[in-house]
Amino acid sequence: MSAPKRFLTENIIDYPACAEVALEGEQFNHAKNVLRLSVGAEITLLDGSGREYSAIIAACGKRDMTAHITGYVVGDKEPKTDVRLLCGALKGDKTELVVQKATELGISSVGVFNSKYCSAYLTPSKCERLNKVAREATKQCMRSVAPKVEIFERFEAALASAEGYQNKLFACEFENSSQADMRALRGSTCLVVGSEGGFAEEEYALAREKYGFAGVTLGKRILRAETAAIAMCAIVLFSLGELQ
Ligand code: SAH
Repeated sequence: MSAPKRFLTENIIDYPACAEVALEGEQFNHAKNVLRLSVGAEITLLDGSGREYSAIIAACGKRDMTAHITGYVVGDKEPKTDVRLLCGALKGDKTELVVQKATELGISSVGVFNSKYCSAYLTPSKCERLNKVAREATKQCMRSVAPKVEIFERFEAALASAEGYQNKLFACEFENSSQADMRALRGSTCLVVGSEGGFAEEEYALAREKYGFAGVTLGKRILRAETAAIAMCAIVLFSLGELQ
């Protein structure tokens, strides 16, 4: 039998005080109309706390379902180290691709920024769409916490959101040598990767001088922005011991 289908709840579940949870909107639609689940089906509920609740569908209406929780375990697939990705807004659905792959690889949060040579638009509905992609990827790869995706209209605000991270790495296409050793990382890490247009010299200087980023190169070839973002996530999570 395949594993019970996974659903993310809007709010933290106050279990055992409350053992009944309503599934509504996107989650209800997915359960009822896509997966055709009905009363008696076993499901797993994820509330973003790291707990994975076992539940049974107890009632099913036209707009919502009620699930009855029978117990929980703490998910064991979340990365131990906080890795944040700051990525330039990409054209078409490329940012969605990056958010999906970064989630599977184990990123904890994503910031999508606008910068000087960026030509994609950022809107609140795009942000909502990216969060939905992160939630879908979380369920699919069996994580228990969906990374939160935020958007930054100003590049500097994105850089400032890296405050407190132990390692700050800036993938720079015009840098010849790395100022940090990505083979031996320890501790929380924030990554910056540019959009199709790449970075301006002054953006790289600002990141290093004011925000303490170390420039890193991915070698002599110029990678597409989405390749660079996914490669950086894979390299860093491997180095931190999360992909072994
Ligand atoms: N338009 C630019 C390339 C942008 S590539 C040009 O023609 O030079 C998009 C982003 O991917 C870059 O901003 C950088 O963050 C990352 N990237 C691509 N290749 C890289 C490399 N060899 N080293 C470091 N970062 C790289």
